[in-house]
Amino acid sequence: MADLRAIRAELIGVVAAPHCLCCRSPLARSPAGPAICGRCLRQIELAPGFPLRADAIDGGFAPLAYEGVGRQLVAALKFMRLTAVAGLAAAVIAGRAPPAWLRATIVPVPAAPLRARVRGFDPAREIAAALAGETGCAIDPLLRRGDRSRQRGRGRRARIAAPPAVAASGPAPARVLLVDDVVTTGATLDACARALRSAGASDVRAVAVAAVPPR
Ligand SMILES: [Zn+2]
Repeated sequence: MADLRAIRAELIGVVAAPHCLCCRSPLARSPAGPAICGRCLRQIELAPGFPLRADAIDGGFAPLAYEGVGRQLVAALKFMRLTAVAGLAAAVIAGRAPPAWLRATIVPVPAAPLRARVRGFDPAREIAAALAGETGCAIDPLLRRGDRSRQRGRGRRARIAAPPAVAASGPAPARVLLVDDVVTTGATLDACARALRSAGASDVRAVAVAAVPPR
């Protein structure tokens, strides 16, 4: 069994003390923004980025691979619920995505209902809000996920293979930029893009702060 006291001490150390959120190396002083060391920040800035793959999108981009510093950054956002990390993720996306994509309505990829309820903190929505602030784009959280009833009774393998059920709650703007925290297979992005097109979108791009690189 895990030693909860040790885990708690470790988390408090990461959040409160001046330690890098990614590699946990000690920082000389508490920074005003997210606590990230110079070495990790350089890795984030110098990462080449790569396209996201999903059939129904017109283009997709992630600045970071979901490994090393990219994985650590997503973990800091997801499990430590740090809004400042969402701001950093949005700044990295805004600085690296094709500028033309940033003139669209931002739509966050919706979290699965159970996940959203358990965590009460939605990383994709946090990044989307920060990106809207950074770019001046409108944000419209119009997608909903309802996988539970549809997937009830299916085996684990089928649930993983099946795309999530996503629907738009109203008409979609013509130009949309989908925003997620991390993309693994692209199945969720694809389902979101299809829902947006059914609701009237004609140009759907997608960004995430990190993604599993194409093989
Ligand atoms: Zn670091």
